[in-house]
Order: sequence, then C-alpha cells, then structure tokens
Amino acid sequence: MARYCDAVCRLCRREGMKLYLKGERCFKEKCSFETRKGKIPGQHGAGKMKKPTGYALQLREKQKVKRIYGVLEKQFRLYFEKAERRKGQTGHNLLIMLETRLDNVVFRLGFAPSRAAARQMVMHGHVRVDGMRVDIPSYQVRSGQAVEISERARQNDFVKNAVDTAAGRGIPKWLTLEAAAFKGQVISTPTREDVPLDINEQLIVELYSK
Ligand code: SF4
Repeated sequence: MARYCDAVCRLCRREGMKLYLKGERCFKEKCSFETRKGKIPGQHGAGKMKKPTGYALQLREKQKVKRIYGVLEKQFRLYFEKAERRKGQTGHNLLIMLETRLDNVVFRLGFAPSRAAARQMVMHGHVRVDGMRVDIPSYQVRSGQAVEISERARQNDFVKNAVDTAAGRGIPKWLTLEAAAFKGQVISTPTREDVPLDINEQLIVELYSK
C-alpha cells in the first residue's frame, strides 16, 4: 500500500498551518512550524511564499485535508465521489466521511497521539469495533458502534500516555469515552461543526468540479 514516507513537518510549513501530524511534539516549542516560521520547505524555501490565487488556493485546501487525514490522492478522489453521491453538501459529506474513519476515531478518542499512530494501531490489529478486530484504517465507524483497544495494547505505555494526555484536551461531543476501560463509542454522526478544521471545503468541491 502506498503511503507518504518523507518528513511530515515540511508538510505543515508547505501548507502554512499546523497540521498536527506528530502528536505531542506539535504542542511543544520544538514544533518546526514554530521554529522555522514562514519558511517553505525546499531549495528555495528562504524566499517569500507568493500569495496563492484561484487554482492554487483550491489545490492547497485539498492538500491540507489529504495531509491532515493521511489519505493519498486516489483514495481522496474516491471519498469525494462518494461524498458527491450522498445527500447534502458535498464538502460537508467529504469531511464527515474522513472524520468517521476508524483511524481518526481512535485518534479523537485519545488512544493514539496522532492519526499516523492510530493508523498503525489499527493495522496491527489492536482495535476492536463492537468486539470484533478491525484492521482497516479507512473503516467507516457508524453511530452506535463501540471502539476499544485490545488487552495487549492497553499494557503499552505509549497508549497509556496518549490516553492520559488526551484526557486533558477533551473529546468531541459525538463521541463518549471510558478512559479506564480503553473504550469509546460513537453516539451520533458528526456534523461539519463537529469537525474542528479551519478548512474551506467548498474550494475542494470547486477544484474537483472543473
Ligand atoms: Fe506540524 Fe506537528 Fe511538525 Fe509542528 S511538530 S510542524 S505541527 S507535524
């Protein structure tokens, strides 16, 4: 399966915003977006970033969302096509489908410090949905389903630390969490307001509708 393997902090600097791809480090002073503020990555990164217009704005918005959720182009396009077929606003549908991916739900519940770590936990079989092992990160979690961490992963300090840290930040209102039992539940389908991203999804719709 194809995946992005290069340094992720450069993606934040490229998009001009923090994408929170590295867990705890993103909240610390050594976040490279903070220490190298305003510098775009690459050979000509010291130069000033041009103000994007038209197509560039749409493209950057799409890239931000792809990178935040760790989805590559082909899969992102499929999400868009499904979002278009659903009732309601395509942009909202797109974000809600991404938000209800199993790896994102594991991250939002605080069982992993980043979506990349959550994705790895899912792929390694440490996540159960309604008691059944699910190892597909893109699995769409539905309202009413319970998500829990395997017995083995609960002993892992990495997971314990993530849960402790996330407890201080709170979880979205469409989820409930029993932190002591390493278990959470999706109590409703999230709405656009529940997706805390500073993104103009309409630009993505315009990009793909050309
Ligand atoms: Fe982005 Fe996090 Fe790296 Fe900061 S530490 S640049 S927020 S991935």
